[in-house]
Amino acid sequence: MSRVRKHVADCPACGYELSFLPWDEGCPSDEICSCCGIQFGYDDIYADTEEDFKKVYADWRCEWIKGGYKWFSPNPPPAGWNPETQLHKYLSNEDKVLHTRNTNISHIKKDN
Ligand SMILES: [Zn+2]
Repeated sequence: MSRVRKHVADCPACGYELSFLPWDEGCPSDEICSCCGIQFGYDDIYADTEEDFKKVYADWRCEWIKGGYKWFSPNPPPAGWNPETQLHKYLSNEDKVLHTRNTNISHIKKDN
């Protein structure tokens, strides 16, 4: 196995860059996010609709934040890992997606 991590998807709970797809065409990976410890196909198995999934991940994220952004894996996190930056980046991207879906694009604020 190569030790180079490939960024395939973001963890839907914590935004960590995963080297696998959490779910692929309705099949869970059964993998665990090294960062927040959620297991796809286990912790989110009762989710049915997109809304359910969102809620599971949002709840998980909340618990993870409350727990102090703990790194889950026994292996050390990548160099320079910063959970707050990671989360911020992930959530601001998600906001943008929701924003473009729901409302007027001209309202999107530009940074700076
Ligand atoms: Zn995660």
